[in-house]
Amino acid sequence: MEKIQEKVSYCLNCKIKPCSKACPLGNDIPSFIEQIKIGNNRKAYEILSNTTVLESICGRICPHMSQCMGACVRGIKSEPVSIGELEAYIGDIAIKENYQMSKKQNIGKGKKVAVIGSGPASLTCSAFLARQGFEVTIFEKDKELGGILIHGIPEFRLDRNILNKCINKIIDLGIDVRLEKELEKDIFLEELIKQYDAIFLGIGANVPCNMGIEGEELEGVYGGNLLLEKGKHPDYKGKRIAVIGGGNVAMDCARTINRLGAEKVYVIYRRAREQMPAEEKEIENAINEGVEFLFQNNIVKIIGNTDGKVEKIECIKTQLVKKEGEKRESPIDIKDSNYIIPMDYVVMAIGSRPNKELMNKLGVQLTSKGYIVVNENYETTIKNVFAGGDIIGSKATVAWAARGGREAGNSIAKKILSV
Ligand code: SF4
Repeated sequence: MEKIQEKVSYCLNCKIKPCSKACPLGNDIPSFIEQIKIGNNRKAYEILSNTTVLESICGRICPHMSQCMGACVRGIKSEPVSIGELEAYIGDIAIKENYQMSKKQNIGKGKKVAVIGSGPASLTCSAFLARQGFEVTIFEKDKELGGILIHGIPEFRLDRNILNKCINKIIDLGIDVRLEKELEKDIFLEELIKQYDAIFLGIGANVPCNMGIEGEELEGVYGGNLLLEKGKHPDYKGKRIAVIGGGNVAMDCARTINRLGAEKVYVIYRRAREQMPAEEKEIENAINEGVEFLFQNNIVKIIGNTDGKVEKIECIKTQLVKKEGEKRESPIDIKDSNYIIPMDYVVMAIGSRPNKELMNKLGVQLTSKGYIVVNENYETTIKNVFAGGDIIGSKATVAWAARGGREAGNSIAKKILSV
């Protein structure tokens, strides 16, 4: 507690709230910190729950340095305020002390909303609707709730016990849950539209992108997010693994594989360390745990043995060049700098995209990259069908997905009640 008081006292309670402005959810950061200062944790929770329902989760896994903490005034000359830690502290107390999420005006009675998926966007959308009295049913394709939170984030970054308690707190708002119900297999959008006043699609985008290089079809090449999601890892003992990419999924894959006993794990990234989208603390953790980073290197080919399994990779060194009209330097291959490294597995962590087959079945308008098109109210081209989170191509962080869920929930409320 002394430590917490020290951390909250460090906050300057800035009137212009740069931290809040940099938070995707717009959390009122100085105000909730102020309440901890005066010992009113319940009020601190109330302030946070005006904008979020994932305090214990976002407090732990958000890339704080590129969001709230990156904008903290204290960070200009020294260390920023530990905003994430303080948010998680309040979220955990709320779970432990069973603080109730404030109910909003009970305007949704008798109105039914189906929420498809149970990741951060869907959970947040459901919570904001349930708090206004709407009858919410979550349909989840897996056996447990959480989506990307449970399948995409390793346990060493997000404790499952805390995650489950956070989800239960949301479900306890009176949300109905139907597990093992997959869209367009067990439940159908066309039918749901007839049965519910509105639908929210929070189904994520989890088909791994590939690079289009030779050898990607070989045995031993995996998509990073699917590897984390399915958890079906091969035996890495005595093996060498290359993780391709520079985001948090690449860090999660590299650290997970390293912990599973791999002999050597490389992260191959074609730009420089400073350009890596992964959070600095995740990069540092990976380095401290023994992962080797090959910055300004790119994979150009995966070479297999006669059994069709990965045996080596061919890489090339890159240099960063600022091209005319471009904001940041681009990596250019250095001629004749190719080299070969023996490798047993290659993990592609270069992003993910929506499931094309499923998207086409839904009949909603899609962008050229296959994401669902929504208007400013998060409504798709089908009336009363809304969408948010990764499936609309928003920035792939939990807080941005949650914001989409919250905004869509508020739009759904407005739309249904205006009829
Ligand atoms: Fe506190 Fe930093 Fe926000 Fe200022 S910017 S209110 S110091 S957390």
